[in-house]
Amino acid sequence: MDDSIRNKKLAVIGFPFDENSSYKKGASSAPPLIREAFHCYSSNTWSESGIDIGAESVLFDVGDVDFSVVSDPFDKIEKAVTKLLDQNFFLISLGGDHSITYPIMKAFDKKYPQLSILHFDAHPDLYDELNGNRYSHACPFARIMETCQIQRLVQVGIRTLNKHQREQVERFSVEIIVMKDLAEDFKLIFDTPIYISFDIDVLDPAFAPGVSHYEPGGMSTRQMIDIIQKVQATAIIGADIVEFNPRRDPSGITAMGCAKILKEIAAKMLE
Ligand code: MN
Ligand code: MN
Repeated sequence: MDDSIRNKKLAVIGFPFDENSSYKKGASSAPPLIREAFHCYSSNTWSESGIDIGAESVLFDVGDVDFSVVSDPFDKIEKAVTKLLDQNFFLISLGGDHSITYPIMKAFDKKYPQLSILHFDAHPDLYDELNGNRYSHACPFARIMETCQIQRLVQVGIRTLNKHQREQVERFSVEIIVMKDLAEDFKLIFDTPIYISFDIDVLDPAFAPGVSHYEPGGMSTRQMIDIIQKVQATAIIGADIVEFNPRRDPSGITAMGCAKILKEIAAKMLE
């Protein structure tokens, strides 16, 4: 493993972008609310493994990208990520809809060509196109598998596979652990560095109602945390937390769920 992986510096960046959402807008307002939940005095900033993620110099928060005057949002996302990776940051991004993972992965692919992706979601997001949009939040993993050098794409928690997406699974040799087959003692092992893409709708809407696409029958927050804590890989070098829609989260519980996942993924990255 090269020195860029050994010298761990962890950055957080927000992508307030939901232009590729197919059903409801709202995910663009998520990043500041996840930060607010992370710093909220109703909890603290320690991970369950005993790392204070909120301590000084642990997370370098570079703020949100401004999309208000941008002609090519994906180019802006790719450049923002490239800049941080060039400074040897590991990275957690706060979305935004799931379409942002494609430009993020293009940047990671240039620096880390042997990555695997661990993708949590109710949906496989493998559509070739949706409603004529090849960059829809339903398509990022099709674009990633077409253009990036991904070792393994492992999807967990899926419960919406249709005929087209099953064909895409075959086409891209995706490994899928569908929700109905998720075992109690489920554990993931990778012999590569990994990137974690976390769509909050992998959780059951009872635990995380603040999402655009309700898909009942999902994971509990506890199941999700257990899987993250047990995952084995040579390193976790990046992650995104996407699809939190604050417009459907009146109690703020989904924001707290995102903040909890942020703490647990950050701790795992720093291990
Ligand atoms: Mn998704
Ligand atoms: Mn989803």
